[in-house]
Amino acid sequence: MIVMKFGGTSVEDAAAIARVAGIVQQHAKQKPVVVVSALGGFTDSLVAMAKAAASGNLPAALKLWRAGRQRHLAVLSGLKGSSAALEQVQELLGALQDVLRGIAALGELSPRTQDNVLSFGEMLSSIMVAAAFKAAGLDAVHIDSRQCIVTDTNHTKAIPLFEPTNARLRSALKDHLAKNRVPVLGGFIGATEDGTPSTLGRGGSDFSAAIVGAALGARRIEIWTDVEGMLTTDPRICKDARRIEVIGFEEASELAYFGAKVIHPATLIPAVESNIPVYVLNSRNPESKGTCIQAKAPHSTTTFRAIALKKGTKILNIKAPRLLIAHGFLRSLFEVFEKHSLSPDLVNTSEVSVSVAIDGSRDVKALVNDLRPLGVVEVESGKAIVCLVGDNIRGRIGICADVFQAVAKAKVNIHMVSQGASEINISFVIEESDAVRAVQALHAHFFPEEQLPVSAVGDDVYAGCAGVA
Ligand code: ASP
Ligand code: MG
Repeated sequence: MIVMKFGGTSVEDAAAIARVAGIVQQHAKQKPVVVVSALGGFTDSLVAMAKAAASGNLPAALKLWRAGRQRHLAVLSGLKGSSAALEQVQELLGALQDVLRGIAALGELSPRTQDNVLSFGEMLSSIMVAAAFKAAGLDAVHIDSRQCIVTDTNHTKAIPLFEPTNARLRSALKDHLAKNRVPVLGGFIGATEDGTPSTLGRGGSDFSAAIVGAALGARRIEIWTDVEGMLTTDPRICKDARRIEVIGFEEASELAYFGAKVIHPATLIPAVESNIPVYVLNSRNPESKGTCIQAKAPHSTTTFRAIALKKGTKILNIKAPRLLIAHGFLRSLFEVFEKHSLSPDLVNTSEVSVSVAIDGSRDVKALVNDLRPLGVVEVESGKAIVCLVGDNIRGRIGICADVFQAVAKAKVNIHMVSQGASEINISFVIEESDAVRAVQALHAHFFPEEQLPVSAVGDDVYAGCAGVA
């Protein structure tokens, strides 16, 4: 079997849902289990409804609710033969309104109640998608994720309890799959052991897909979105950015951390641990092969797999008062970072100073005050981190020279450098105003146009990576 997960934009309206039905139909032989997000943008509006109600503005909450109801009913009426779901959808919408009124009456919104509100998004979408599948001739069956995904009570960011979750998923889905039915589950949602709805954190539908895939030993997991997969760099910076065909899990994580937003690899851990390849695919262009993320990817044919750029970085320079940094200095320094829940993106140390690159959106006043007893602190804003990711970087002689020569040719000055202990990245900090030029120069150098896509399509590329049908 395979897992096919469709994100919010892939189910945003009737036309999108019909497209999804067509894609699933084409994969019917592979015994798909389908996981869906809420209709695109609806989780955000559920958050807004809950907040409005909690702040005592029930009319605003109900206005948003009416818009949401109208949207769902319009989508449903745009779907062929889906009247069977109408009653359920209306019932859910009514229950949502009751919850909102309850929140307004109490004037408070606990994480537990917020999860209750948010769970309506995926409940609604999964029921509607299952109905649309049936109307399209698929033998689909709706499965309530709250009965299968058992989580801890850490509401709004709940973590699955894998033992009961795996057992329940297997027993809920096995028979259906044996009878070639297509189970449809809402992503993102689950319930605690006592049955209270919970959510896995925003964007958690990918996590759901990985959980379901790992529980059932899927051949592969497909994450269907509205992009071609992961690209060699941001296509807004380089027009000739191209699709990465296959990438290792750690490389993908590194890219996500430094700005690639397609997927949150941490959520794929259950899949990667079970050695299940994960494909990122485009529901608007189902023919494209997308990107395959797997535990261990074959070497790339290019020096690097991709280049990421993270703008809005700040550098903190801390100069120790004495000539040599005393032992214990770094520990004290990082204790301050820990106190402020700030994890550095990049760290350089010399004998007398430490430079730390951090996310520039953070207000660092309090942090700087706490750092002052350690030495002279200087803050530099307007920086950017460029991160080149590839496999086996550490083992290659001359690779740094190659990178920095390309950057130097673009007349870009470098402030900090790090070659990751992970062996898979080289990162450096530059002026934000130089960032685009630097990335363009690097991309042109390492991904010359005449070269084929990253890892040419060939049988060996997809070895261990069940091919996309
Ligand atoms: N609907 C949820 C969200 O918007 C989960 C997801 O789409 O993955 O965060
Ligand atoms: Mg998402």
